[in-house]
Amino acid sequence: MPLPSSFPPEAALVLFSGGQDSSVCLAWALERYGRVETVGFDYGQHHGVEMQARQVVRENVLAGFPDWAARLGPDHELEMRGFGTIGGSALTTNREMEINERGLPSTFVPGRNLVFLTYAAALADRRGLNVLIGGMCETDFSGYPDCRRDTLDALQSALNLGMDRDFRIETPLMYLTKAQTWALSKRLGGQDLVDLIMSESHTCYLGERGQLHAWGHGCGTCPACDLRAKGWAEWHAAGEPGAPS
Ligand code: ZN
Repeated sequence: MPLPSSFPPEAALVLFSGGQDSSVCLAWALERYGRVETVGFDYGQHHGVEMQARQVVRENVLAGFPDWAARLGPDHELEMRGFGTIGGSALTTNREMEINERGLPSTFVPGRNLVFLTYAAALADRRGLNVLIGGMCETDFSGYPDCRRDTLDALQSALNLGMDRDFRIETPLMYLTKAQTWALSKRLGGQDLVDLIMSESHTCYLGERGQLHAWGHGCGTCPACDLRAKGWAEWHAAGEPGAPS
């Protein structure tokens, strides 16, 4: 198959983990772009539950949001277990989660987003997609240096130089709090989307589904559950507003 020499406009690839943030990013992309595909990375995270959540969220989008379903293209899963073995983090080994000497949780896999986005760009090149969308966020996790917008601007330049393309990395959640992310999902897809993301997206670091809390499934005690629960509570305390458009 010949490589496309130029991309049709309005086509996006969403880095989609099946978590709260990337599920909102998927809805955001489907509101904006005529063609949207998703990519997930299997880097040996011991909760395959995350990979399962991806499919459940996609299936519910296809079944419950007809306008979006018409735009949602195929899903891709890329195997990156070799990378996971380098990270050696609490997500990929049995080490306890802790905060390390650099102030980062041991769940941090160094440079993870750089690697994911580079893989995503290579896939996007082959699929004729020009926008890469990720749920990176500076607001709640300032400790992750590869989530910073400055990092992603530099990576975008490197990808465009190195692949001779015109990719744009979009990060709609970059400056939102978790409460504002819930508000954005309400504005994008109403209560149906809030319900879907609450009940089916997966955030818990420990890979636990467990009981259904008001804010979703999860162990309820790990930092990811804690953040999600606090954001939900904050959003409800504010009267569940939708984000301004
Ligand atoms: Zn948890």
